[in-house]
Amino acid sequence: VTDWQGKHVTVAGLGVSGVPAAKALHGLGARVTVVNDGDDARAREQAAELEALGVTVRLGDGTAPDSGSAAGLPDGTELIVTAPGWKPDHPLFAAADAAGVPVWGDVELAWRLRKPGAADWLAVTGTNGKTTTVQMLASILEAAGLRTAAVGNIGVSLLDTVVGDEEYDVLAVELSSYQLHWAPSLRAHSAAVLNLAPDHLDWHGSMEAYAKDKGRIYEGNRVACVYNTADKATEDLVREADVEEGCRAIGFTLGTPGPSQLGVVEGLLVDRAFVENRQENAQELAEVADVKPAAPHNIANALAAAALARAYGVPAGAVREGLRNFRPDAHRIAHVADVDGVAYVDDSKATNTHATQASLAAYDSVVWIAGGLAKGATFDELVAGAAKRLRGVVLIGRDRALIREALARHAPEVPVVDLERTDTGAMLQAVQEARRLARPGDTVLLAPACASMDMFANYNKRGDAFAQAVRELGA
Ligand code: ADP
Repeated sequence: VTDWQGKHVTVAGLGVSGVPAAKALHGLGARVTVVNDGDDARAREQAAELEALGVTVRLGDGTAPDSGSAAGLPDGTELIVTAPGWKPDHPLFAAADAAGVPVWGDVELAWRLRKPGAADWLAVTGTNGKTTTVQMLASILEAAGLRTAAVGNIGVSLLDTVVGDEEYDVLAVELSSYQLHWAPSLRAHSAAVLNLAPDHLDWHGSMEAYAKDKGRIYEGNRVACVYNTADKATEDLVREADVEEGCRAIGFTLGTPGPSQLGVVEGLLVDRAFVENRQENAQELAEVADVKPAAPHNIANALAAAALARAYGVPAGAVREGLRNFRPDAHRIAHVADVDGVAYVDDSKATNTHATQASLAAYDSVVWIAGGLAKGATFDELVAGAAKRLRGVVLIGRDRALIREALARHAPEVPVVDLERTDTGAMLQAVQEARRLARPGDTVLLAPACASMDMFANYNKRGDAFAQAVRELGA
């Protein structure tokens, strides 16, 4: 599309992706209608802002993600731009399909509206570690003196970034599986899939569909497809992708790297894929101790970020400096306090079993606080693998019975406290129960393996509630 004048575009959903999309399209001269089921105070506020510009907004008409009602496609719609969270099986898309109307996500729109000669995209997806990796990558690119930003699913609108006035050399782009699902023509400079574990299966419908959507990130890559040698599914996705001629498959490993891989040798991050001096067969990048925290999964994130930066031509010194400058975000294995010889750690960002598995593996004796919205996950593998490390478990949230049942099957000896309440005050009680179960030297770990929205606005609030409760213990 080059001529937007008078084009009928329906934007599905207000919020962080819909509002910028509606504004950008309206600014290009399109006739924009926004459909949004919710009509709470925030929606009305956003609607009023858009209506003042001349955008039509339909609130509360049953077209939202979970309404399941037959959505009417607004008359004359020529294109739908959807918020990433809308499920593919939503009636609006069936109606679009029947009418031959294309559906783009917010990322697709950003890709199409980017300016000629604009910044390259280095893209990252995966079940876990996306945000951390993208932040490490941006830090490395910055250390190399490049104009860059960490954008996308990380919470910074890609669309605002690409249509805005600020100029960039290269963007570190976090993409969710939802966004990739709706981004058919995206072509990154280089991309990484960090890992693939069951998550969001209720949205995608199956593991196959989820993997397929993640794999979209490699399509059309020009320089490098970065994969995890410890996760064969990521390598399979590279093999299946249709890439530009000359694009290389680059692996990262926590062990000794082979040719075309980055890995770890004697406490050093080492690059055997992009070697600067042809006389040598490997390039030292940084020390493992430059990675914070230097937990195995996080070293993997650093290697993936380094691989993308190296694919873009960043020198080894900038990789080291970028990793040294990087500070991890809150709620990701954050040490809150020690109380009576017990460490309290907030990994509220562990919203699925794969992330929780990584954080439980970092401790020998754990009182584990878990539960929330399971999003279709099963817990047998996680619980069986962690059973030896568990001093006790405190369960919170709506879907806690799923975890309780898995514990009964695989760790019947481990004491479990099942908190029936789901009010926000439940976190204080959970921390008190955990304290009772813990012995000196143990770690009380909030790593819920579930989403938080049954009890909290988001994982940040859940982590904050945990930290607050721990402070009350100490007081
Ligand atoms: P995302 O953006 O993919 O959700 P984050 O970097 O925010 O990823 O980390 C999410 C959670 O996953 C955190 O709890 C963190 O401890 C865990 N985690 C981070 N990197 C990895 C990884 N490579 N493998 C497994 N778990 C990870």
